[in-house]
Amino acid sequence: MGVFEEVAVEGHEQILFGYDKVSGLKTIIAIHSTALGPALGGTRFFPYKSEEAALEDVLRLSKGMTYKAAAAGLDLGGGKAVIIGDPREDKSERLFRAYGRVVDSLQGRYITAEDVGTTTTDMDMVRRETQWALGNSVGLGGSGDPSPVTARGLIAAAQAVAQRLWGNPDLTGRRFAIQGVGKVGSAFAQLLAEERAEVIVSDAYESAVEAAVENYGAKPVDPDEIYKVACDFFSPCALGGILNQETIPELNCQAVVGSANNQLATDEDADRLAERGILYAPDFVVNAGGLINVYDELHGYSRTRALYRVDAIFTATQEILKTAEELGVNPNQAAMTVAERRIEEIGGLRKFRRNGADRN
Ligand code: NAD
Repeated sequence: MGVFEEVAVEGHEQILFGYDKVSGLKTIIAIHSTALGPALGGTRFFPYKSEEAALEDVLRLSKGMTYKAAAAGLDLGGGKAVIIGDPREDKSERLFRAYGRVVDSLQGRYITAEDVGTTTTDMDMVRRETQWALGNSVGLGGSGDPSPVTARGLIAAAQAVAQRLWGNPDLTGRRFAIQGVGKVGSAFAQLLAEERAEVIVSDAYESAVEAAVENYGAKPVDPDEIYKVACDFFSPCALGGILNQETIPELNCQAVVGSANNQLATDEDADRLAERGILYAPDFVVNAGGLINVYDELHGYSRTRALYRVDAIFTATQEILKTAEELGVNPNQAAMTVAERRIEEIGGLRKFRRNGADRN
């Protein structure tokens, strides 16, 4: 398939290729939609095997951001960027500043932030060339590491699910099995301990498990055992694609609420969960806390305002569960529908132009 045909499939608005010979920068920025606002999405720094693989990834990820922002009720569209390279070897000031100039050329139609392979320090360098780089260091007025805020969003989502399943949002005594206690998973374990919930954890690294056991009184299980744990909530906080044909029959939970992106291996896996009577709270709805946090930097970062908006994940989750019931579809389909409706209704407002041009 040619580049334009590939771009046309999912209706992307714009793709920009950037290159800098001196630093070796090779970047692709994909803007999927600006219907609701500027396209915000992080910069992934990854050693893609081919330029085709990088293009495919950035197209997929940017579309996902459109849905995440729309479902979170933000005035943002969806975009993403990739830099082709090894983040351990290929980073330099020149590369990030050259990248910043590529981002700047879009004049705010695309806003970047950190993602897999990039850090707040990298974003600080990008910021020297463009105001359209968020996820900056706290010392520079940025919002810093989003993980604790993402974990807070998971709590709000779990409370909405508890309200739905048991008529009460209280998580006291509820049992959570967390897969992956990295930055988000460990912050989630801490918040759950504060809620007096019961926490069981697994991780590929023994040290991460030990920290959760020591600091938050969690109980450890082997990575392969986490699916089978009898619990109220299974919380994937490590990898994508882990809800699939093999794992879903093993689950012994009432609901799934976790931070990992793209938890469902295929769309049919949402039906498989429903058939087993497991309530799936869609990943892109419940893990929006990080995006909401970084979005707040656009208005001069306020932690209080960011947390207030993150707590609204409670109502966003409720709305999606209600829509799923009304339409007789699974929650994942309902979340897509809610996002698409909002893009159409609110995006359509733009025909009423403000005095002059729109904001972005
Ligand atoms: P992280 O790298 O800090 O943590 C991931 C943890 O999972 C690590 O401790 C790793 O050892 C563990 N892990 C890897 N493979 C595993 C396996 N097979 N079994 C058990 N544990 C395993 O990453 P993070 O920032 O905590 O993010 C976790 C997930 O949440 C990712 O999918 C990420 O894309 C998503 N997410 C994160 C944020 C955020 O704010 N950081 C926001 C939205 C979504």
